[in-house]
Amino acid sequence: MTLKTLTQLSSLLGSGEISSLELTQDYLHRISQSDLNAFITVDEAMALQQARAADAQRAAGDNGILLGVPVAHKDIFCIEGMKTTCGSKMLDSFVAPYTATVIANMNQHGLVTLGKTNMDEFAMGSSNESSYYGNVANPWGDSSKKLVPGGSSGGSAAAVAAQIAPAATGTDTGGSIRQPAAFCNLTGVKPTYGRCSRYGMVAFASSLDQAGPIAHSAEDAALMLNSMTGFDHRDSTSLELPAEDFSAELDTPLQGLKIGLPDEFFGDGLDPEIATLVEAAVKQYEAMGAVIKRVSLPNSELALPSYYVIAPAEASSNLSRFDGVRYGHRSEQHDDLVEMYMRTRAEGFGAEVKRRIMIGTYALSSGYYDAYYAQAQKLRRIIANDFNRVFEECDVIMGPTTPSTAFAEGGKSDDPVAMYLNDIYTIPANLAGLPAASIPVGFNSDNLPAGLHLMCPHLQEARLLNIAHQFQQETDWHLKPAPAAWVSGDE
Ligand code: GLN
Repeated sequence: MTLKTLTQLSSLLGSGEISSLELTQDYLHRISQSDLNAFITVDEAMALQQARAADAQRAAGDNGILLGVPVAHKDIFCIEGMKTTCGSKMLDSFVAPYTATVIANMNQHGLVTLGKTNMDEFAMGSSNESSYYGNVANPWGDSSKKLVPGGSSGGSAAAVAAQIAPAATGTDTGGSIRQPAAFCNLTGVKPTYGRCSRYGMVAFASSLDQAGPIAHSAEDAALMLNSMTGFDHRDSTSLELPAEDFSAELDTPLQGLKIGLPDEFFGDGLDPEIATLVEAAVKQYEAMGAVIKRVSLPNSELALPSYYVIAPAEASSNLSRFDGVRYGHRSEQHDDLVEMYMRTRAEGFGAEVKRRIMIGTYALSSGYYDAYYAQAQKLRRIIANDFNRVFEECDVIMGPTTPSTAFAEGGKSDDPVAMYLNDIYTIPANLAGLPAASIPVGFNSDNLPAGLHLMCPHLQEARLLNIAHQFQQETDWHLKPAPAAWVSGDE
């Protein structure tokens, strides 16, 4: 199927060529014909009702740019009256009593909710294989050789890549928007920490979690971001800033742009085919007037180990609320309260979540706190300082998003460290709170996509999207549709 961007759909709606109801019905039909397991919940009645309301609003003269555009939401966002599982058995029966601010903001813009997408359990993972609701297929693979879509926002990425949703929300704690975007030939943006409210988003590691868009193009991602962001007094880390139009700088020419290429991102462990694609993308930027500088982020190798102390520590604290009393699953078999807690958590959580809780609880325990958590926080500061220094001499830092392309299902599930290494290039931006994106830069010899990773100084999302968009004006990698095999009726 020819690829349609969110921007194209928005203009079809604007010109009246298609109604939101027709568009929403089309996507709901495509979802029902797809074989990816990308969605956990689809509420057709709610989607159609929102679409009709959007059409009525348009008929009454509202011409909001996103009014009536259907999108999918990662099942980590609460939506009032809808099941919110976070990919876990623990929340299998949890119906959210309120709506996350990010989703409420998008609803205000008239976006229609197609459904909730599959994800790694509690957003812990890089392959979507830790979901209680089963694996998600990457539309760039085939059924004889199933490839992972990446994670944890794997359902969102697979849905957009297979065009069963034009765009989707994701969240990114260590790479969960950008890594699946790279694996599925999409544009994924993790905003500056604090841009999107975390209210109503199930917490994994609160000092790192950030919502963002997964879309085909930077132009689409900018529109999505415009609808998602904004100050929220219900999130104490929400940034109180004037509203910003992230599309405003898209067309700025890149003449004189200073690109930093850190040596540390091109060393051992990087698939040589990805290195070649990234180098070609950098050449393209040079041809567009950019200047390339070799730079160094000398403490990059400390990012992964510090993340795997900080994220599990915060997770072990956040996940203590799932006790069988306040939310979700409660074990049937218990004689007393302590046994009820223990069995509930033993039954409700999967293996990866338990591993993180154990690591985190250990790291925070008395006598170990200074050796692990406090130490990791110091490293985080050192890593952030490295970025500040490099940004004194360049506007954007580029490198590969991931060390490999999408891998086979089961390929890394027995080896947590190999799985964790997927995020080696993405985690530093989370630790430093920086805005970062992954954009498509072509395909390897197996026709699998690779991503270019871009990082900008704090709050420079508009610049980041400008840099991404200008590349997408000169290349068409992002417009290559995934093979049609996953939606019956497609050719
Ligand atoms: N893959 C990383 C992890 O498992 C990042 C997850 C995320 O960004 N939510 O922790």
